[in-house]
Amino acid sequence: MASIATATTHCKNYIGGRWVESRSGRKTERRNPADTSEVVSVAPLSTREEAREAVAAAKAAFPAWRETPAPVRGKAIARAAALMEQQKEDLARVLTREEGKTFKDSLGEVLKSVNILEFMAGESRRIGGDVLPSELPRNFAYTMKQPLGVVGMITPWNFPVSIPVWKMAPALVAGNTIVFKPAEFTALIAEKVVEIFEQAGVPPGVINMVLGAGEEVGEELVRNADVKAISFTGSTEVGCQIYAEGARQQKKCQCEMGGKNPLVVLADADIPLAVEATVFGAFASTGQRCTATSRVVIEEKVAEEFVKLLAERTAKLKTGNGLAPGVDMGPSVDESQMNTVLHYIEAGKREAKLLLGGQRLRGRHADSQTDYDRGWYVAPTIFDHVPAQASIAQDEIFGPVLSVIRVRDYEEAIHVANSVRYGLSSSVYTNDAAKVFDFIDRIETGITHVNSPTVGGEAQLPFGGMKQTGIGLREMGRVALDFYTELKAVYIDYTGRKRESNIY
Ligand code: NAD
Repeated sequence: MASIATATTHCKNYIGGRWVESRSGRKTERRNPADTSEVVSVAPLSTREEAREAVAAAKAAFPAWRETPAPVRGKAIARAAALMEQQKEDLARVLTREEGKTFKDSLGEVLKSVNILEFMAGESRRIGGDVLPSELPRNFAYTMKQPLGVVGMITPWNFPVSIPVWKMAPALVAGNTIVFKPAEFTALIAEKVVEIFEQAGVPPGVINMVLGAGEEVGEELVRNADVKAISFTGSTEVGCQIYAEGARQQKKCQCEMGGKNPLVVLADADIPLAVEATVFGAFASTGQRCTATSRVVIEEKVAEEFVKLLAERTAKLKTGNGLAPGVDMGPSVDESQMNTVLHYIEAGKREAKLLLGGQRLRGRHADSQTDYDRGWYVAPTIFDHVPAQASIAQDEIFGPVLSVIRVRDYEEAIHVANSVRYGLSSSVYTNDAAKVFDFIDRIETGITHVNSPTVGGEAQLPFGGMKQTGIGLREMGRVALDFYTELKAVYIDYTGRKRESNIY
């Protein structure tokens, strides 16, 4: 399509309430993955020293923010929700230009972030502890939650609005101050998210943002003794390194990492419903979701019917520039990610039977007015008869590649669904109540769905994974506050007498 050219933005760091140029002199240019002729942003690769300055600003802002009553902090979060709602279309447009997901997916992400802000604003009036009975007469025992101090946030590019928001909102409500290091690809939308909090009246120094490389700015946050906790979302490889370093520093760490999510289809399932969920789960956001459906585990008896419908439905998807009307799937986030996807597609051709797609898209697509040669487009790809141990069934590909694994029966389905190192999300399609409950009981994932897609999550429910997907406390929901607070147990003796008991 004629490129939707828009001005290039030069991004800045946000430290102590001021937008400041980095002194590093090193920069990274972000091109629209749907049309690489458009330079969306130029962002600095900041230095460790700048990260330290941001930590110092957050440390200085902490005492006053800690003393601000939680409901007052919550009001700022509520204002951020309203501002984000007002600006949703502009934000979604930036998100699509920078990350590549379709405008519809971007808008969905922004609206989800509004929900999270609204939910957490409400929680600011409920941060409490428990009052518990004491073993002693006229003794009052209770727990209270207190903020940690400066917290570091390191985030990926694939949900560059909602992931920072689901970390910042509970951290702020709990009274912490923040240094945020977004992914290098998504500096501009990160800047827009921080601007919302600034406009909402979050005081200077309470949120700081430093743009730059993980190995420099990210590492500094993990190592810096003034950063009391790290909330990380990203790959399992980087998350494990951060967790190990965090342990050496005795730092609280929360790492949400990769996924290889199964959608299990049993013989009695509503097959068209399962097909719709699979297409949405596998190909929306170009499969670049941590909760994307990357494996279908299906009972042999219904597999033929399922794959026929699946191929027909997927063939109708329109791939193109996410800002063009009617587009269902955008490009890979960059060339290197596209090459990873193509590498796995070649492996899949050796390991299984290619059912659909299987190549980079080239030429012009008249319908979506997209010039595929200008972007990183891969066709929605499905492999059938995939062995459960094949690389395409085991590794997180993070692209529009789906593996269909056929199994004999329910027992084998459960075994295969659990036979990966990850454990984020899952889904089962069946109308057999006993199997529904058995599946919920035995599936090794932090989130599970019954007769609905593997993707998505609501603000008031916890989000996170088991096994090599998640280490540390869950995000979102009320439990999100537990990561951002210390729990203090309090005993008040109002007898005024020497204790006469043998409680230790
Ligand atoms: P990534 O691990 O490459 O990068 C994530 C962040 O870590 C980036 O900001 C990066 O700069 C930073 N980083 C890199 N090296 C670092 C280091 N040594 N020290 C400190 N920080 C460092 O991941 P990505 O490619 O941006 O994102 C994709 C991954 O994120 C996928 O694996 C996906 O499954 C995962 N993800 C998980 C969830 C979840 O909730 N489980 C959600 C979204 C994405």
